[in-house]
Amino acid sequence: MHYEADTHTHTLASGHAYNTIMEMVQAAAAKGLKALAITDHTKGVPGHEMKGAPGDIYFRNFVVIPRDINGVHLLMGAEVNILNGGSVDLSERALRQQDIVIASIHKQCYDDEGLETNTQALLKVIENPYVDIIGHPDDSNTPLDYERLVAKAAETGTIFELNENSYRDPGLRKNCKENQLTYLALCKKFGVPVTIGSDAHFMDVVGQHEHNEVILKEADFPMELVMNTSAEKLINYLKARKARFLQA
Ligand SMILES: [Zn+2]
Ligand SMILES: [Zn+2]
Repeated sequence: MHYEADTHTHTLASGHAYNTIMEMVQAAAAKGLKALAITDHTKGVPGHEMKGAPGDIYFRNFVVIPRDINGVHLLMGAEVNILNGGSVDLSERALRQQDIVIASIHKQCYDDEGLETNTQALLKVIENPYVDIIGHPDDSNTPLDYERLVAKAAETGTIFELNENSYRDPGLRKNCKENQLTYLALCKKFGVPVTIGSDAHFMDVVGQHEHNEVILKEADFPMELVMNTSAEKLINYLKARKARFLQA
């Protein structure tokens, strides 16, 4: 299977990734990708900081960046931090301007509160119209009730992510494979779309999805629900989501 898009990558701006936007685009073009999402980290809140990540203004000036470079369509966005209580750490003004928004739990910015409270927080994030993708919800260190979350995502059109980084560092996330298989089965049942993201923090792994591809096969997951199989499908899906709140 050829995947045309990588929906989750980081640049120098994140503070702990090491390439420029142009280097990431060149890597994507070299791998034959047609779309690349740049989703740098946001900076958290006092007491729960993502150190080194840029402030709101960084995410409000993407108008200066061309969206088609070297045959690659760029989606300029953010990987925002889910905060306790289910809010995220980017202003509404900035959120409205993103081409793509991933919201993820990171331990720097979120304290585990147990399955029920974590699930309540995530339900609120899924209801946030600016959040397109729930990033790497696959870590048993912050347990979640997947059935309720995927059922909610079916109502809102929110995408669930398979994240390749969950496999690069074995100590990073607990039971990630098992959890991914659980929510993939539910996404299949409820017709919820998924994305696969390299979560590259260096250009050599842009477009790298090999563990995620294996999981998709293992889950016998329908390819029409995988947004990365076609750049056009992904771009149109995100545009349609955005149109809903821009009209509101
Ligand atoms: Zn992340
Ligand atoms: Zn990331």
